[in-house]
Amino acid sequence: MTPVQTLAPSTTIPFFNYRHLFTSEEEELVAIFRDVGRRGAFILQQDLERLERNLASYLDARHVLGVANATDGLIIALRAAGIDSGEVIFSSHTMVATASAIHFAGATPVPVECGPDHLIDPAAVEATINPRTRAILPTQLNGRAADMEALGKIAAKHGLAIIEDAAQALGSRFDGRCAGTFGAAAAISFFPAKLLGCLGDGGCVVTQDDDIYDRLLQLHDHGRRADGEIISWGLNSRLDNLQAAILDYRLDAYPAAIQRRRDLASLYESRLGELEELKLPPAPDADARHYDVYQNYEIEAQRRDALREHLKANGIGTLIPWGGKAVHQWPALGFRQELPFTDALFERLLLLPMNLTLSDSEAHQVCDVIEYFYRG
Ligand SMILES: *Cc1c(COP(=O)(O)O)cnc(C)c1O
Repeated sequence: MTPVQTLAPSTTIPFFNYRHLFTSEEEELVAIFRDVGRRGAFILQQDLERLERNLASYLDARHVLGVANATDGLIIALRAAGIDSGEVIFSSHTMVATASAIHFAGATPVPVECGPDHLIDPAAVEATINPRTRAILPTQLNGRAADMEALGKIAAKHGLAIIEDAAQALGSRFDGRCAGTFGAAAAISFFPAKLLGCLGDGGCVVTQDDDIYDRLLQLHDHGRRADGEIISWGLNSRLDNLQAAILDYRLDAYPAAIQRRRDLASLYESRLGELEELKLPPAPDADARHYDVYQNYEIEAQRRDALREHLKANGIGTLIPWGGKAVHQWPALGFRQELPFTDALFERLLLLPMNLTLSDSEAHQVCDVIEYFYRG
């Protein structure tokens, strides 16, 4: 075990170390590049097919399709599910990509409040449904799945589709089922800083429905059918085979990576759980219905901005979610909804370092600095 380091001003714990994604396994990655390159296998090749199969089996899903990124994935998922008009309800505490995907699919994004767990509030969803509503698009935020039982009941009662934004939730479960397998279709992101990151942009769409899968195939590859016949309008949104080869290699270590994130969450919980100035995410074993994978460790903090400055002065990087604003708070997007719970929440949200580079001693150091800030 590494000894707990003493606090030195020169110590830096970055919020996320992008270089490490490459340097931590440089030899293996270069070998993959060489292999793929020497085969000339760049677009729609066997490495991508293998990744899609392995992801489907990991998620216990019927179909997985690699796409260029999760934002495209959401657009394609909505279109494949027939959601190209009307309103789609989403939680304003999400990446703007969730809303822009709805917009570019041809529907109107309608933001609602999240609940105390930061995930879409089923009661707010139900209160917002009207005759124009076509679908609910929950974001499985920070590696935690929403209450899919409640959302499923609401969707069934009102005849709505569910499309999941599972960009942050590969492998998270609700009642034993993986995020991404609840609705008509879902998108997962392989952006470098996501749970399973590649060395660039990447994503996939998940579906349990054969007809939707057929439309996804066409939509992501110029409207082409397997025999080359063009049978609809389509986009070009394929996952590069090289990125797929890297992701397939990384998928082997993914269960261990999730366990590491859960261990770090337990460490934060044990060190910070008693501070009444903070509200922490649910601990890994707090609720038997949820299996969380901690894409992020998102806390609510009193005097958030001062805490962030204090952490920064001690060389510790943090992040305020989404550049400080919920989606409905960006004036240029023209939303008129009033979401006071989300507004107040956004004064308190802070993301602590949560990644595979972070050692136990560094996580303890983060806790020491936070404790000192509130307790002196
Ligand atoms: C990262 C992210 C996206 C977009 O993923 P890309 O692959 O970068 O397009 C969408 N929604 C959420 C919640 C995200 O975190």
